[in-house]
Amino acid sequence: MRKFPKPVVVTSKCFEFDACRYNAVMIPNNFVQKLEPFVKFVPVCPEVEIGLGVPRDVIRVVEVKGKKLLVQPTTGKEVSKSMYKFADGFLNSLDSVEGFILKSRSPSCGINNAKVFPDADNPVPIGKGPGLFAEKVLEKYPGVAIEDEGRLLNYNIREHFLTKLYTLARFREVKKKNTAKSLIEFQSDNKYIFMSYSQREMRALGRIAANQSQLPIEEVISEYEKHLQIALSNHPQRSTHINTLMHGLGYFSKKLTSKEKSYFLTLLENYRNAKIPLSALLSVLESWIIKYDVEYLARQTFFAPYPGELVEISDSDKGRA
Ligand code: SF4
Repeated sequence: MRKFPKPVVVTSKCFEFDACRYNAVMIPNNFVQKLEPFVKFVPVCPEVEIGLGVPRDVIRVVEVKGKKLLVQPTTGKEVSKSMYKFADGFLNSLDSVEGFILKSRSPSCGINNAKVFPDADNPVPIGKGPGLFAEKVLEKYPGVAIEDEGRLLNYNIREHFLTKLYTLARFREVKKKNTAKSLIEFQSDNKYIFMSYSQREMRALGRIAANQSQLPIEEVISEYEKHLQIALSNHPQRSTHINTLMHGLGYFSKKLTSKEKSYFLTLLENYRNAKIPLSALLSVLESWIIKYDVEYLARQTFFAPYPGELVEISDSDKGRA
């Protein structure tokens, strides 16, 4: 039975935690609800934290001479400085964090789709961008898992978010232990995930973990973390998943019958043509891992990168990458 560490996830407080929206309502969110037992949530409402109160008049992002401001049109208040000050203090106070789930389109929390207006009164937006709190999140934590609730309705985006979240949480344990042994084990157990994300970074991570230059472990872990974040920065492709699955299949090449191999290769083609999900192939490989007791593959997080209870195959066209 795999054990999963609990990732630390900062979330917009109006999801499930508090009726703190401008109109004093709370937003129901199934994903946040589902995650609750499996992560350590840090809910935050930046607008309440800077004293705007609940309910409150709406605020908006305004761009003046290339500079973004957060203004409340009805009162004429300009709260950009308070928001940046709060965001800096709050983000610096976090001990460790692996992810953020933020409210889309909010002038504070929106990651990239808050409307930007030319002035406080003009109702026609001139573009979109991050809200002011989210801007600081992206600046301070570029390497962690950051998504909004709209994009997380998409299966692939959710899959990537959860994989990254739990991989970073496992790496937090390595940093705590601060030993070459724990780093080498991490590299070995996550190798198939890295292979799916980026072969180049997988090799770089392997070289760093091997530490042939005998650098102090703190330096090695810090360098490794940089490359880990690069490796997890892009979604894996269908083709790279296929390559990883073929590696897995290689472990059983002498044990399987030609019918079993050909069945797997047919599934692989169906997956390549987007007719079946990755999980269909993973199930077959896992059954062989159990049957032939292949310890190295059994340890690969690729086969269960996050708790099974969070697997949800529902999909939405919203928020496609
Ligand atoms: S979107 Fe952000 S600022 Fe707005 S209510 Fe939710 S948590 Fe508060």
